[in-house]
Amino acid sequence: MNHSVDKAQNQYKATLHLLQIELVKLQRHIIKRGERILLILEGRDGAGKDSTIKRIIAHLSPRETRVVALPKPSDREQTEWYFQRYVAHLPAAAEFVIFNRSWYNRAGVEKVMGFCSDRDYEEFFAEVNDFESMLTRSGILLRKYYLDITKKEQKARLAARRDDPLKQWKISPIDEQALKHWKDYSEARNVMFARSHTHLCPWTIVHSDEKKTARIQLIKDFLSRLEYADKDIDLLAPDREVVFDYDPAYLK
Ligand code: ADP
Repeated sequence: MNHSVDKAQNQYKATLHLLQIELVKLQRHIIKRGERILLILEGRDGAGKDSTIKRIIAHLSPRETRVVALPKPSDREQTEWYFQRYVAHLPAAAEFVIFNRSWYNRAGVEKVMGFCSDRDYEEFFAEVNDFESMLTRSGILLRKYYLDITKKEQKARLAARRDDPLKQWKISPIDEQALKHWKDYSEARNVMFARSHTHLCPWTIVHSDEKKTARIQLIKDFLSRLEYADKDIDLLAPDREVVFDYDPAYLK
C-alpha cells in the first residue's frame, strides 16, 4: 500500500470513529427522550446497504437498535394489506430501527421482476405518501436514502461477490437479474423518486461508487438532520456533491 492510500485509509477510519461517537450521542438522546427513529436504505444489489448498516450499528446498543431485512412475503403475507408486515417492525420508544430495503420493494424489485400486478403497483403509490405521513405524524423520525451506483460499479461488485468466500451469503438469484434489468431498475427508480419524494419524507440520494465516501457522507447527512445533545455540528457538514435530496433534474 502506498503512502497516500495509507493516509486516506487512516483519515476514513478517524472520521468514521468520530461519526460513530456522534451516533452514540444520538442514541443516548433518543433513549432519554423516548424518541423513535426509522432509517430506510434502498439501492440496487451491490449498492452498499449492508456494509453501510454495519458501520452505523457497530457501536450502538444492541437492545435499542434493530436491523430489519424482510424475506420475500409468505403466502399468508401475500394476502395482507401490503404495508402490514412492515408495521410490525416499526420502532417503539427509544428504538432506532434500520430497514435494509423496505416497502419500496414494490416500486423496485417487485415491479421489475413482475412479483406484483400493475394494480398492486399503482395502489402502492396511491398509499405510500399517506402511509409515511401517518408515521411521521405519529412522531417517528423517518429518513429514506437511496444508494446510487453506476452499472460498471455494480458489475464489478457482483463479480467480486462471486469470488470472495466471505461474501457468499450476499449472493442471490435476484442478483443475476440486476445487470440484465439495469434499465428497468433505472426507470423504476425514477418513477419511485418522482412519486414518493415529499416535503415531509424526501428521498436523499447518495453517490455510492466510492463506498467509504458514501458511508461517511450518508452518516453525516443523517446526523445533521436530527437533534441531539452535544452535537458536533462542524463535523457533520455533508458534501452535497455526494449526498443530496432528490431533484427532478437528477433523472437521467
Ligand atoms: P438482498 O439484495 O436484499 O440481499 P435479494 O437480492 O435476494 O436480497 O432480493 C431483493 C429483494 O427482493 C428482497 O427484499 C427480497 O425479499 C425480495 N424478493 C425476492 N423474491 C421475491 C418475490 N418472489 N416476491 C417479492 N419480493 C421478493
